[in-house]
Amino acid sequence: MRLYPEEIFDSVEDVPYAREYGRGVRGIIFDIDNTLVPHGAPADGRTEAFFRMLKESGFRTCLISNNNEKRVRPFAERVGAEFTCKAGKPLRKGYLAAMAAMETKKEETLFIGDQILTDVLGANNAGIRSFLVRPVAPETDPFQVRLKRILERPVLFFFRRKTGKTSKNR
Ligand SMILES: [Mg+2]
Repeated sequence: MRLYPEEIFDSVEDVPYAREYGRGVRGIIFDIDNTLVPHGAPADGRTEAFFRMLKESGFRTCLISNNNEKRVRPFAERVGAEFTCKAGKPLRKGYLAAMAAMETKKEETLFIGDQILTDVLGANNAGIRSFLVRPVAPETDPFQVRLKRILERPVLFFFRRKTGKTSKNR
């Protein structure tokens, strides 16, 4: 199912990165808004420490956003990640560019994001494993994202029913 993530977590910090390293993952692609920080918020000390941990654990990282360079570049530079902006998710092109930037193959790459209809669908289109996380601060979502979250609800319902996979409160 093109709309299903492999797993759902409460936040990016709950993902078992050591397990994923053991599975051969060497590059992780992250959505930014409401995956790492509230919509439009800059990277903070906690975000920096999180990316430092990933780097020290042996992962390359890339940020992928449909937003513009003004939003994405300063964030990526602060956390020391590669980036792809105006990615056109759910199209494949941004994910392919992210893998090229990290020099990883599909099998070595993991995607983590907070939206099904853009993030997860795009990762599935590109043939990359995907994890869905709860939005950091859904009240900061712009209007069009709020609409998409309503459309996500039945997908999440059937995903949970099929797999029994869930995160708390989601
Ligand atoms: Mg997002």
